[in-house]
Amino acid sequence: MKALCWHGKGDIRCDTVPDPRIEDARDIILKVTSCAICGSDLHLMDGQMPTMEAGDVLGHEFMGEVVEVGPGFTKFKKGDRVVVPFNINCGECRQCRLGNWSVCERSNRNGEMAAAQFGYPTAGLFGYSHLTGGYAGGQAEYVRVPMADVAPMLAPEGVDDESLLFLTDILPTGWQGAEHCEIKGGE
Ligand SMILES: [Zn+2]
Ligand SMILES: [Zn+2]
Repeated sequence: MKALCWHGKGDIRCDTVPDPRIEDARDIILKVTSCAICGSDLHLMDGQMPTMEAGDVLGHEFMGEVVEVGPGFTKFKKGDRVVVPFNINCGECRQCRLGNWSVCERSNRNGEMAAAQFGYPTAGLFGYSHLTGGYAGGQAEYVRVPMADVAPMLAPEGVDDESLLFLTDILPTGWQGAEHCEIKGGE
C-alpha cells in the first residue's frame, strides 16, 4: 500500500510499505476513506518528537471502511464505516475505567519509555513516535486498529466523512480545552 512516511526533519515521503495484517483478535483493518493532518504532525515534521524512526507511517486522525476483523470480533463487521479516536484504549485498566483515556496503562507497548520521558506513561497513539507505542498511522491506504472494540465509533448512515472526521482529535480536544477553561459563553 501507499503511506506517508517520516524520514527525518522536513522529509516526509509517499512510500510503498507492507499492507497491515490482523495481529490480535481485537484488531480491525480499515481501508482509509479520509484522514487529516494535525497541528501536532508539524512537531514530527519539525523533528521535535524523539524516537521517530525512518519509515514510520504518520497520521492519527482518520476514518474508513472495515475490510477485515480479528477472529471472533463482533463490534464491527466488514463494510462498516468507522471513526477512530487517536487514543488506543484497552477499556479494562484503572485509568480507562476512570475515563482517563489518554493515559491507558496497557495500550502503549513502550509505556516505560514514555514514563521516563514524560513522568507517566501515555496511552498508545497512532502514528506518533515510538514513545507512544510505535503504531502505524492512518495517512495511508490501510491501517490496523488495535483494541478496536473500545474507542472506535460506528459512523451513522447518511453522514459524510467530512462531518465526522474531526471527532478523531480536533473537535474533542478543543471541547476539552474549553471545559478546562470553564468557558460558559459570553466571556
Ligand atoms: Zn491530532
Ligand atoms: Zn486502558
